Amino acid sequence: RYMGLNELRDLYLRFFESKGHLRANSFSLIPQNDNSLLLINAGMTPLKPYFTGQEIPPRRRMTTCQKCIRTGDLENVGKTARHGTFFEMLGNFSFGDYFKKEAISWAWEFCTKELELDPERIYVSVYEEDDEAEAIWHKDIGIPMDHITRLGKEDNFWEHGSGPCGPCSELYYDRGEEYGCGSPDCGVGCDCDRFMEFWNLVFTQFDRKDDGTYEPLEKKNIDTGMGLERLAVMMQNVDSLFDVDTVRAIRDHICRIAGVVYGADHDTDVSVRVITDHIRSMTFMISDGVLPSNEGRGYVLRRILRRAARHGKLLGISHPFLTEISQTVIDTARDAYPELADKRDYIHKVIASEEEKFYATLDAGLAILQSFVQEMKEEGASVLSGAKAFKLYDTYGFPTDLTEEILEEDGFSMDMDGFRKEMEAQRIRAREARSETNYMGAKATVYNELDPAMETTFVGYEQLYTENSK
Ligand code: ATP
Ligand code: MG
Ligand code: MG
Ligand code: MG
Repeated sequence: RYMGLNELRDLYLRFFESKGHLRANSFSLIPQNDNSLLLINAGMTPLKPYFTGQEIPPRRRMTTCQKCIRTGDLENVGKTARHGTFFEMLGNFSFGDYFKKEAISWAWEFCTKELELDPERIYVSVYEEDDEAEAIWHKDIGIPMDHITRLGKEDNFWEHGSGPCGPCSELYYDRGEEYGCGSPDCGVGCDCDRFMEFWNLVFTQFDRKDDGTYEPLEKKNIDTGMGLERLAVMMQNVDSLFDVDTVRAIRDHICRIAGVVYGADHDTDVSVRVITDHIRSMTFMISDGVLPSNEGRGYVLRRILRRAARHGKLLGISHPFLTEISQTVIDTARDAYPELADKRDYIHKVIASEEEKFYATLDAGLAILQSFVQEMKEEGASVLSGAKAFKLYDTYGFPTDLTEEILEEDGFSMDMDGFRKEMEAQRIRAREARSETNYMGAKATVYNELDPAMETTFVGYEQLYTENSK
């Protein structure tokens, strides 16, 4: 049964509402009170305080569709059918309320009754020591044993350092032989696109102690995550994330601007897919308040935007175009994320300004890099020196992963350690320059006493005034 991405999101949230869950809006991509990650990468991360018991949830059952960014998947984008840096994660959560049995049977009910998926095509994995989950799938649900795979810790045990953790069970969809790698061992866990993981059910039942032992939690939790785009791939019976209705609208817009046909040439398609993904990431990041910069989240945004701009060049687009494409992102997602439409002008302004900044040096930078590559060919070298990579970074605004990507296309690499040394040397030069001269030309000011490593912390969220101003 064909269903649009927006329709599927709603179907899922309504289903779990009918099972007593409180439906909440997606949280911001920027983590709040959590320094352990730059950007929200799963539905459960903004809910961590409810899982640890630090805060009381508004209800013990919740359901969300969370915007996520995974920069770890950057290299996969455009190459696999199922990875984006941006995607939406559907999730249902239990904070010390229901556990394995309900989580599994509702997942099954949703797949087979609501979505009417063919049960034959659904495969599941369980953690190798989790007999309980296997018994529920096999005895209660009736899944045949040849559709259940036991997997080890890497794949099916969820933990991050110490704290709440536990085994998980994943649902896979057999997309058919035509998507397989052809290997006789091909099955659940294979890297190819045939058996696509689409839903992860995490059973948080242990507390990992600092000494590495596991203590059963008194209040067990459920945390599930299903990729909305992957679900749409299944329900729309299409090849990849980039063929899903809303994503495809963005893809087609890029093709129109570039004057290319999707599906005709491999390299062209990769560029189109990269831009399609990256424009979603940047539009959502900016709407949540991230600005391009040289560190942290801002640098993630800058890298993504500049990479997209360069792939535009590869497609033969000779003018800034990202602002225009972001309009389609907003149009296709505004119903679920009204903040996009509210901040449209602001989003456009931020993209346009960063793209123009990069555009001013892009051609010159590409020409310099080409000449470096030429030199390397003549010298028989295969690694670009740190000094040259730094010049591209410092003078032409090329993030290192962009330089690396371009080099890789020609079979070269770059000296990352050398690059870091150049960065450090420049930092020291800048500090020395600051301490010698200063604003107004005078050599000594009251600021000389200040420690350059001193940081300013904004405390306005926790306190309204300082002791002195009371
Ligand atoms: P994979 O093994 O395919 O990389 P994962 O095991 O890393 O996925 P989880 O951390 O279990 O993914 O996240 C839960 C769900 O989120 C996945 O089952 C999948 O449907 C979806 N998902 C994860 N990463 C991505 C991505 N980069 N793009 C789109 N959907 C994703
Ligand atoms: Mg992954
Ligand atoms: Mg996985
Ligand atoms: Mg997984």
